[in-house]
Amino acid sequence: MKFLDEARIEIVAGDGGDGCVAFLREKYRPRGGPSGGDGGRGGSVWLVADAGLNTLLPFRYKRLFRAPRGENGRGKSQHGKAGEDLTIAVPPGTIATDAESAAIVADLNEPGTRVLAAAGGHGGRGNARFATPTNQAPRRADPGTPGERHVLRLELRLLADAGLIGLPNAGKSSLLARLSAARPKIADYPFTTLEPILGVVAVDADQSFVLADIPGLVEGAHLGRGLGLSFLRHVRRTAVLVHLIDASGKTPEAVLTDYDVINAELEAYAAELRERPQIVAISKCDLPDTRALLPVLRDEFGKRNIQLRHVSSVSGEGCRDLMIAVWQTIQHGRSLTADDA
Ligand code: GDP
Ligand code: MG
Repeated sequence: MKFLDEARIEIVAGDGGDGCVAFLREKYRPRGGPSGGDGGRGGSVWLVADAGLNTLLPFRYKRLFRAPRGENGRGKSQHGKAGEDLTIAVPPGTIATDAESAAIVADLNEPGTRVLAAAGGHGGRGNARFATPTNQAPRRADPGTPGERHVLRLELRLLADAGLIGLPNAGKSSLLARLSAARPKIADYPFTTLEPILGVVAVDADQSFVLADIPGLVEGAHLGRGLGLSFLRHVRRTAVLVHLIDASGKTPEAVLTDYDVINAELEAYAAELRERPQIVAISKCDLPDTRALLPVLRDEFGKRNIQLRHVSSVSGEGCRDLMIAVWQTIQHGRSLTADDA
C-alpha cells in the first residue's frame, strides 16, 4: 500500500507566443512601417502552501498541470496576451524535488509560501522591434521560447503527532472529522479506512497538531501486513495514542476485552508502541446505553490505573477536553524525547 504522502506530478509552463511580422497598410500610406506585435509570455506554474490541505491525495487523481501559452503577437502592434499563471496548492510541509536531478525546487513549510516551479516562456519580439534607421521594413520576428517543464516529486513531511486507534467502528473516523479539517469516509461497516488519514487539529489560533486515523490494526488477521513502511514511519513518531472504545451494547467485560485486543495487536505490530502514552476514551457517549455504562467502566479502568474519558463525535461532548489532553501529552512527550523523525 502506498501512503499518501508522496506524489509525482508533471508541470508544464506555457510557451511564449510568437512575435508577428506585419506592416501597416493604410489607404494613403502604402508603405507603412513594421507593426508586428510581440508574443505574450507563457503562463508560469507556481506551488503554494495551503493551510487547508493536509494530504497529497488530490495528486493521485490529477498529475499533469499545464499553464496556457502566450498568444501570438498580431498586426497593428498588438501584443499577444500573456498566458495565465497556474497555481498548485499543496499542504504545508510539502517538499518538491526535481525527479531527475533530485534538486529541491521548493520547501513549502509555511502556509502561504509561493514558489515559482516552472517559468513560462518569453514572448517573441514582433518585427516592430527590429526597425532601425537603415532597415525600416524588417521581416524578422522571434518565436516564443518554450515554457519550462519538470517532473516533480512531492513529499509531505507532515507526520502525525497523535494516532487514533481502536477496533473498526469504534468511531475513529468520526472523531477525526469532528476534531479536524480532515473529512474521512465514515460508514456503518468496518474496514472503511483503508489508508491512514491525517487531520490537522487546531488547539487555538496558532497551535495545532496532526492526528492520524490509524486503521488496520485489527482487521481480521492481516495484522501489520500491507501497511507500508511509510505508514509505520508516521505511527512511530506519534507522541500519544488516543484509544477509542465503542461500548454500546456491550458488557463491561467485553469493553475491557476490546481494549486488551487492540493493545495486543499494537504490540505485535510494533512493540515500541506499547510504551506510547495512551489516552483512553469511550466513544459515542451520546447513546443512552453507553452513557449508563460509564460509571462502572470508569471503576474498572480505574482499577488498572487508567483514567477513562468519554466523547461523542455527534454531540461534541468531551471532544475539547480530549483534544487538550492530547495536546498536553504531545508537548510533554516532545520535551522529553529528541525528535528522531
Ligand atoms: P471507525 O471505523 O473507528 O473509523 O468508526 P466510524 O467513525 O466510521 O464510525 C462507525 C459508526 O459509528 C458510524 O456509523 C458512525 O456514524 C457511528 N458513530 C461514530 N461516532 C459516533 C458518536 O459519537 N455517536 C454516535 N451515536 N454514533 C457514532
Ligand atoms: Mg474509519
